[in-house]
Amino acid sequence: MSDWYRDLANSGVGAALTRRLGLPRPAVLRRYTPGDPLLPGPVVVVGTAGGRLADEVGAVLKEAGVTVLAADAAADAERLGAVVLDATGVSSPADLAVATTALAPAVKRLRSSGRVVVLADPATDAASPAQAATRQALDGLVRSLAKELRSGSTANLLLVPAGADASLAGPLRFFLSGRSAYVDGQVVTLSPAELPAAEAAERPLAGQVAVVTGAARGIGAAIARVLARDGAHVVAVDVPAAGQALAEVANEIGGTAFGLDITAGDAPARLVEHLRERHGGVDVVVHNAGITRDKLLVNMDAARWESVIAVNLQAQLDLTTALLAADGLLRPGARVVCVSSQSGIAGNRGQTNYAASKAGIIGMVRAWAPEFTARGATINAVAPGFIVTEMTAKMPMGTREIGSRINSLQQGGLPVDVAETIAWLAQPGSAGVNGQVVRVCGQSMLGA
Ligand code: NAD
Repeated sequence: MSDWYRDLANSGVGAALTRRLGLPRPAVLRRYTPGDPLLPGPVVVVGTAGGRLADEVGAVLKEAGVTVLAADAAADAERLGAVVLDATGVSSPADLAVATTALAPAVKRLRSSGRVVVLADPATDAASPAQAATRQALDGLVRSLAKELRSGSTANLLLVPAGADASLAGPLRFFLSGRSAYVDGQVVTLSPAELPAAEAAERPLAGQVAVVTGAARGIGAAIARVLARDGAHVVAVDVPAAGQALAEVANEIGGTAFGLDITAGDAPARLVEHLRERHGGVDVVVHNAGITRDKLLVNMDAARWESVIAVNLQAQLDLTTALLAADGLLRPGARVVCVSSQSGIAGNRGQTNYAASKAGIIGMVRAWAPEFTARGATINAVAPGFIVTEMTAKMPMGTREIGSRINSLQQGGLPVDVAETIAWLAQPGSAGVNGQVVRVCGQSMLGA
């Protein structure tokens, strides 16, 4: 599905026209393909006195073969792939001057689809109100900068509490890479975790078993493909009526098709049995299946309400409960990723049922995170914004155009963007990301 307006805005005549008329000029985003370098250009790392993460950042960049330039060399150098600001040293508002003295000159030299990643301590851990204020100020800085960046560039904030420095590598790689193409203006808080000694860059899920619900089409099929690309054997789950499409996806990726209505009373037991008998256990569970039954609340019948809650929320609760209870089935280091939605954060007219179910997912993930930590596992949610699927292609053109442009990247995301974010959360190197909600929405203006 091509984006006709983006293609026009990037053509010779279209570029001149959109510039003259002051219309949005969505960029062709840098997306990951296996074998790509982490970044297409060098990085400048800037910081404040007392910042503690420079070595950690340097190690990640060195391992990835990225050239690191001194901040003052940036003015003469080729265009930058990324700027990393280590703001862990800030303690008073005056320290924020780094925004104009060091960050801005480097940002000016970013190439298209560049990355700005800011690293800071959480304001909640601050020793004084002044320090908390300064740390929280970075939130406003990053969210605003993300809105100012153009040409497909993104800005995100990683909060690294004391003791969680070792959790930084995987998340930093993700936010610098093309995998995070449609993740913009986000704040992710890391936690201390046991990290693997090393991780295969190309196939981090090799030898693992992953379940993906709703895998017959759309975002679920993209998730199945990306997890398989990253090395997992995928058990693709969907309703029996979607059997043929499901089989096609499973065959394409060398996975297993498992016809299952996740709302059936025996669904949790059947899934547990299937996983135990065929695979002995499971490493990654992606709760992606979801439905909409839109109506204004005043016109909403019980069936519409109940079916949405049953598929989108109750089934995720029941399946996860059963997997946790099945002795040893969830393997050490297991990853559960739940698909929420921007509607669950911002609300959406006509979607009280859907938004309730998707907000419920966020509550569920946060409540379960401590238990998952205790098991050396993680549970997180992704909240997609406007994702270009067959469903959105059927929208009236005006609604679709507005829906897809009201974000900082001025375009809809692709199913693969959601899939890449889920695959990142599924990696062993994401052990320090738990109980988080990561929006894949191009920094949508809704619910921001
Ligand atoms: P889709 O309708 O194309 O696919 C959903 C899949 O889930 C279908 O294959 C369907 O058969 C399956 N499914 C539905 N009920 C099921 C059940 N009871 N048991 C097993 N499988 C079932 O939807 P999509 O656009 O790919 O969305 C995937 C997920 O992403 C959903 O949770 C959706 O709410 C969420 N989401 C989508 C968007 C978007 O813009 N498309 C935005 C935000 C969130």
